[in-house]
Amino acid sequence: MKGERREIFNSASVGADKCTFCKIAKGEFPSYIVFEDETYIAFLDINPFSRGHTLVCPKAHGETVWDMKEAEIGGLFLLAARVSRAVVEATGADGFRLLQNNGEAANQVVAHVHVHVIPVMMSHKGKPMDRIKFEGKEMEATSAAIRKALARA
Ligand code: AMP
Ligand code: ZN
Repeated sequence: MKGERREIFNSASVGADKCTFCKIAKGEFPSYIVFEDETYIAFLDINPFSRGHTLVCPKAHGETVWDMKEAEIGGLFLLAARVSRAVVEATGADGFRLLQNNGEAANQVVAHVHVHVIPVMMSHKGKPMDRIKFEGKEMEATSAAIRKALARA
């Protein structure tokens, strides 16, 4: 990109050593993983908007997509699209949202790049998104169903 690079402000900014999603990527912090390879990891959002709400991340630390190489950004969104098929199949959703926040002004609260895959039902149409809590057993069952659907994809 030409010209002076603008920084995107985020008061949640932390180094990789203190980053929760880096810890999840390294297996140092528990999560409900649905997909993992050398470059990316996808796991259930712990405070989801719907059953099956999944976060897709690069394993390498970076706050916004501006910290990533173009090919890695492409790979991230390709994987998010692939994960969305498995999430919709596993949850029986009628549609899905792909959401990616960059910076505090965009409500980014975890300063490690991630794409939200949020399955939605027809009953959600026109309603504001609310967080729902699921029991550990439900989270485990949902992540297992998504992993199974991804393996078929
Ligand atoms: P954003 O507002 O785009 O930064 O979204 C961050 C998301 O990360 C929120 O939806 C949180 O519920 C989710 N989150 C925070 N900590 C964890 C965690 N340890 N495991 C899974 N999801 C998390
Ligand atoms: Zn990180």
